[in-house]
Amino acid sequence: MRVDVLTSGIWQTNSTIVSGDGGCVVVDPAYFPRELDAIAEVAAARGGAAAVVFTHGHWDHVMGHAALPGAPVWVSAALADAVAAGDPRAAQYLADARDFDARWYVPRPAGHAWPATLRGVDDGARVDLGGVAARAMHLRGHSPDGLALLFEPLGLLLVGDHLSPCEIPFVDDVEAYRATLRRLLDLLAGDVREVVPGHGRRLTAAEAAAIARDDLAYLDRLVEVGARHDVAAARAMPLPRAADVAGMADHHRDNCAKVGVAV
Ligand SMILES: [Zn+2]
Repeated sequence: MRVDVLTSGIWQTNSTIVSGDGGCVVVDPAYFPRELDAIAEVAAARGGAAAVVFTHGHWDHVMGHAALPGAPVWVSAALADAVAAGDPRAAQYLADARDFDARWYVPRPAGHAWPATLRGVDDGARVDLGGVAARAMHLRGHSPDGLALLFEPLGLLLVGDHLSPCEIPFVDDVEAYRATLRRLLDLLAGDVREVVPGHGRRLTAAEAAAIARDDLAYLDRLVEVGARHDVAAARAMPLPRAADVAGMADHHRDNCAKVGVAV
């Protein structure tokens, strides 16, 4: 087995290719056309894409499948169900991609659509991704449809948009996010050797655990100031990282709103 990580020019979004004897699985192929061409080339050199996985439904992670035609697309059962049910949230993910592409003149000849078929995977399931075996975990908190993959022979863990070294937690559900971080800390104390986050550089297990602890401390504090409706304390909270990145303070404000504090 081998691992290739290709990083997009937008937000250091990672596309991870794990290959085995029977081809490869491509996780979160993203984002711009020339980047998708490069991903397809690497996949072809690794025996061809036998599967595609989306770690969650957000628009920057779900636009690349058309570059890998014929490969079945795996997602969390939650995302598969949301798409099948016509959930407005799933429709919004596509609308967000459409808006971004329109704003930046990004050609998307295949359009903005979900794959014709999505294969939903349950929490804890072991899946054969075209000859590459992985254990799937539902990770909620950043989104309701998150999916992590553990490739046990490699000690490789893909976590979607949790544990990023270049952004703070973007919270959808704070309690679910805290539960996810606790679960990841347990996992990272085991046989994981490397973590690939959705955005940012590859991490050792120790680096990922340090991020998880920092993020958990940030969310614990967020919940605490939320319970007190303490606007001043919410404003004064230090960010766990990336405080100098444009827009990160806005994300903190969004997180505050999730716990009932308007700052
Ligand atoms: Zn996301």
